[in-house]
Order: sequence, then structure tokens, then C-alpha cells
Amino acid sequence: MLPPAQKSELLQIVTEDRYLDRPEELTCYSYDSSLDESLPDAVFFPLSTPEVSAILKIAGKHRIPVTARGAGTSVCGAPIPVHHSIVLCFSRMNRIIEINTGIAT
Ligand SMILES: Cc1cc2nc3c(=O)[nH]c(=O)nc-3n(C[C@H](O)[C@H](O)[C@H](O)COP(=O)(O)OP(=O)(O)OC[C@H]3O[C@@H](n4cnc5c(N)ncnc54)[C@H](O)[C@@H]3O)c2cc1C
Repeated sequence: MLPPAQKSELLQIVTEDRYLDRPEELTCYSYDSSLDESLPDAVFFPLSTPEVSAILKIAGKHRIPVTARGAGTSVCGAPIPVHHSIVLCFSRMNRIIEINTGIAT
């Protein structure tokens, strides 16, 4: 659980509907396709680069570890949160901005 002051600071950036911290919600972000699991303190769903930047600045100031997550299909445990970290879940940053046909990305 994030300390209340840190939670309210972070909720200046991301609205409540893009924030999770109930245990049953956090469980969904505690594992990937490997065998390990670990609960984060909170999950945020940023929608833009400035939001990501602002969250990272606050996390850095309070020395809160941050774990990046896409869909959680990693088979090596990489998106499993470290102890007392927050998860930045990028599943809502899903707009295709540009397709580079030259290098097929
Ligand atoms: C059944 C199965 C079959 C698979 N087959 C293949 C295959 O044939 N070839 C292959 O290459 N892979 C394969 N994979 C692996 C899977 O495709 C990759 O793990 C996938 O690309 C991870 O993407 P994700 O969005 O789910 O990220 P996650 O699993 O959530 O995260 C993967 C890593 O990327 C980091 N990350 C996620 N988003 C960001 C971000 N925005 N910024 C910075 N870091 C970020 C995470 O922290 C983590 O380290 C397979 C996985 C499964 C479960």
C-alpha cells in the first residue's frame, strides 16, 4: 500500500479510474507467464508520455521502484513487480501513431 501522501501526489497525475490498489485488483498485476509472483503497491494506467514522465519524477523523488507492464505475457518474470513497487501498465497507450513500412515497425 502506498503511503497516503504519495498516493495523493500521484493521483494529481492519473485520475482515480486509472489507478488500482485493492488486493484483488493488484493480484492481476502480480504475475506473468513465468512461475513467480509478487504484489505491487499500486497500478497506474498512463495515457500519454507527459503522464509517464510526471509519474516517474514523483516515483524517483520518493525512491519508489517502478515496473513497466504491457500485457504480462513475458515468460521470464520481467514484468513481475519488485517489493513495494508501482506498476505502470501501458495497455491503454494503444493508439497506432505511425507505421514505418521501411523497417516494418
Ligand atoms: C505462449 C507464449 C508464446 C510466446 N511466443 C513468443 C515468440 O514466439 N516469440 C517471441 O519473441 N516472444 C514470444 N513470447 C513472449 C511474448 O511475446 C513477450 O513476452 C511479449 O512481447 C511481452 O509483451 P507484453 O506487452 O506482454 O509485455 P510484458 O510481458 O508486460 O513485459 C515484457 C517486458 O517489457 C517491459 N515493458 C513492457 N512495456 C514496457 C514499456 N512501455 N516500456 C518499457 N518496458 C516495457 C516489461 O517491464 C518487461 O520487462 C511468447 C509468450 C507466450 C506467453
